Amino acid sequence: MTNNNANRQHRYVIIGAGMAGILAAIKLREAGKHNIRVYEKADRIGGTWRENTYPGLTCDVPSHSYTYSFAPNPEWSRHLPPGAEVQAYFESVVAKYNLEDIISFNEEITQCEFSDDQWRIKTSRGNSDCADFVIAATGVLHHPRIPRIEGMETFKGDIFHSARWDHSVALDNKRIAVVGTGSTGVQIVTALADRAANLCHYQRTPQWIMPVVNGVFSEEEKALFRNDPVALKGIQNDPELEANIERFSVAITEPDSAAMHEIENIVTQNLEQSISDPELREKLRPQYRAACKRLIYSENFYVAAQKSNVDILLEGVNKIEENGIRSADGTLREFDVIVLATGFEADRFMRPMTITGENGVTLEQAWSERPSAYMSVSIPDFPNFFMLNGPSGPVGNFSLIEIAEHQWHYISQLMALVENGECRKVSASQSALSKFDEARIAAAKKSIFGSGCQSWYLDAQGIPATWPWTRSQFKEAMQKPDFAAYCLG
Ligand code: NAP
Repeated sequence: MTNNNANRQHRYVIIGAGMAGILAAIKLREAGKHNIRVYEKADRIGGTWRENTYPGLTCDVPSHSYTYSFAPNPEWSRHLPPGAEVQAYFESVVAKYNLEDIISFNEEITQCEFSDDQWRIKTSRGNSDCADFVIAATGVLHHPRIPRIEGMETFKGDIFHSARWDHSVALDNKRIAVVGTGSTGVQIVTALADRAANLCHYQRTPQWIMPVVNGVFSEEEKALFRNDPVALKGIQNDPELEANIERFSVAITEPDSAAMHEIENIVTQNLEQSISDPELREKLRPQYRAACKRLIYSENFYVAAQKSNVDILLEGVNKIEENGIRSADGTLREFDVIVLATGFEADRFMRPMTITGENGVTLEQAWSERPSAYMSVSIPDFPNFFMLNGPSGPVGNFSLIEIAEHQWHYISQLMALVENGECRKVSASQSALSKFDEARIAAAKKSIFGSGCQSWYLDAQGIPATWPWTRSQFKEAMQKPDFAAYCLG
């Protein structure tokens, strides 16, 4: 079916000015589309890198990989970049591509409804918009998971979630509790061990730790990257790193592979060789397989864990009182500061926004069982609505920027059908999603994420909510859509 839309300027609305929203805006402009509006709920760009400012915040993906392919950065200071540097990088990209004027800050989209082939949008400021395409780039980890702990409101000291760090609170020589031992908790404990008078790390479930050396790029290296684009591209596409990432993705999908056994070996040796006290070593030894939870990369967490002012506690937090945390055995530990490094509600995506597709189908209805999207980008009955880093996408210890770039390549081919007038709307068919999900779930159950641990990778039914195949299979799948899997209207 053709239509007369082909030559008019389509309007694109992007939800979120984080890494993926910035990417979408740049790519649209590059393709000659100028009718773009980005809605950002906060007052600045940056997404997760804006919201997380905790001490020790470091990206565990190598800096030159955690970089847009089209915006290399010779200035990265370290192999693993500090969070503030990542935020500064995104700000520099936004400035370089002059995106500020198309971003509405402090304006959250509250409602999106598809009618008459357009998305009717309402925002928290009471404004309305109308778009041909909506690109949801809301990210995954932006709703802090704050546990309901008895007595939490009675605590007289300072208590906050890791993604809502209160920088007015003094930390030096204070008695600090850190609850949670994901990537965040581990980084915070490592950073605060030297500063706190006493630091208790509540590890309900210990983690495997992958050793890493976070080297500094010398001034000579940075000068080389500045002056030699080939050297800069070379480190961005480092073949050794590429091979390691691919190997890691094979390990995730094939838990009995040599690649996985190699990872298990490294993390076990790290524990055995780094922790001298046998009792502490056993406390820190996870009872599930390596990489079942997102693998934690740390240069010196085990050094921090062995400091005399640091206590590793193998217990959850059931009760908080005005002076501290009371354990199940009745012991009260007193604190000045309690940090909740308790993770995020990873299944929220665009929610709590109200999104209504064709025939009055709401997102809540479409996702009543679990968040799902064909190839991670398109939901049946939600035409011309695409997601970057949506449900069932690849997650793991690799760059989500790269993942989003591949997804953009795929999505742009679907949007082109409408832009070129071949149809007015496009969304995945229900049968394509069902087939995709069936195969995905079967493979996901066999992946390392389904090997018997609790993590934010699992959906409400305990099934890994991730892309369960290798990274190269993902790249292959993103080359070109199977158009037969889509309903064109
Ligand atoms: P997380 O991996 O979900 O870890 C949450 C931690 O909180 C777990 O140890 C969990 O224990 C614990 N917890 C939750 N509720 C609790 C309760 N009521 N009592 C006691 N403990 C409780 O969250 P995260 O560390 O914030 O990391 C989330 C993700 O953010 C990472 O996996 C990663 O993708 C991303 N991140 C990335 C970087 C990076 O360098 N790229 C850095 C930080 C974060 P259980 O295990 O027992 O449930």
